[in-house]
Amino acid sequence: MEIMSFDIRHLMYYSRNDGSNNRRFSNFLIYFSVIFLFSCFLSSFSWAKATEKQLAIVDSLQVQSDAQSTTLRFIVSADVAVEAAVLDQPLRIILEWPDVSFQLSPDSLPKGVGVVKSLRAGMVSHERSRVVIELSEPALPLKIRSEPVYSGAAREIIVELFPTGRAQFEEAVSKRREQAARRDQGAPESPAGDPVDQRPLIVIDPGHGGPDLGATGVTGIFEKDIVLSFAKELARKLKNIGEFRVAMTRERDVFVPLDDRVKFARARGASLFLSIHADTLSGNSEVRGLTVYTGSDRASDPESARLAESENRSDIAAGLDEAQSVEAVTDILGDLMMRETRAHSNLFARTLVGQMTNAAKLNKNPIRSAGFRVLRAPDIPSALLELGYISSPSDIELLTSVGWTDRATDRLVGAIMDFFEARRNLGGAVSIEP
Ligand code: ZN
Repeated sequence: MEIMSFDIRHLMYYSRNDGSNNRRFSNFLIYFSVIFLFSCFLSSFSWAKATEKQLAIVDSLQVQSDAQSTTLRFIVSADVAVEAAVLDQPLRIILEWPDVSFQLSPDSLPKGVGVVKSLRAGMVSHERSRVVIELSEPALPLKIRSEPVYSGAAREIIVELFPTGRAQFEEAVSKRREQAARRDQGAPESPAGDPVDQRPLIVIDPGHGGPDLGATGVTGIFEKDIVLSFAKELARKLKNIGEFRVAMTRERDVFVPLDDRVKFARARGASLFLSIHADTLSGNSEVRGLTVYTGSDRASDPESARLAESENRSDIAAGLDEAQSVEAVTDILGDLMMRETRAHSNLFARTLVGQMTNAAKLNKNPIRSAGFRVLRAPDIPSALLELGYISSPSDIELLTSVGWTDRATDRLVGAIMDFFEARRNLGGAVSIEP
């Protein structure tokens, strides 16, 4: 038995009339926004048992197009509920899945088929996964259905995208925004930190994750994977010292929105926030080697401004709605606190560069600043570390080697200890640069 929570007649009507009738189109939107639940009752106990504990696996995706529509066919090991949403700037369709495992190699995902410009897939939280479809023209997912395949051993989820006018697309976007805003009201706050343990909390933030791959190296390696393994090693060493509490914004291949990374640190009362990245560079860049970035309203140089802009697009890569994201928290706590925090961030950056000299190849101007969104906590000294640039094969070799990781994490731990030592000696006072 299948439950489909929308009326197919509206879709048929819409298809025939090309959306010219606004009232009918609004009807369609109401149905479109509803979660498409596919529930299937198979009597086979073995099937039910196999899916009880394990994640459903998506291991195949095909995209085809004809004159009318573009069709995506996902093969899934179990039946799951898929929710569709539309976003603009850039034009995207987001498919929200429960906690499924996408076993699709990012390189093999189809590109440039029908209205599909490109595709990304991955986890976005501990319970949800997401497929982000970038569109080459406005299109709406008018039909989503689920059918048994392989004699009922798996399901095929079929998503059909129909090209549409820009006005209709934008209407669908604003409907979805209204619903999301209503849902966000009354969302619970993040839990507070452990009040008993007074040790400083270091929050380590491995960049990107899930459908947001970050930069792709010349060897096909992804930034999200390099920075996660580096961050885990750093966390392990920091915990071993016993002087600090350590938390990571992500511990696996899952996407975390930029503002949530900052909220995570603030909700737990972090004493230091350290974001880890390894990006690629534009053609003739002079930036090579390890670089530490601090937050600033004005970028120290054009290359840093470009990098911050590209890092700040992380949410878009993972299918988040930019227009809905919460703006910087700076105005609440005021400019002065921000300036003092940034003075501490600069102290940390200088301490780190001091430690790293001789241990790693440093950029010739290794302390830079720009408007990174993850460096906007007004009350937590924060820095973003670019380990190296994976557009260079020799940097990839370095960043993925055990020896380099060991040395670099050692020096980072040293820098963090020096930083807290210096703060204790200064009684928290650091000169604020103009
Ligand atoms: Zn990055």
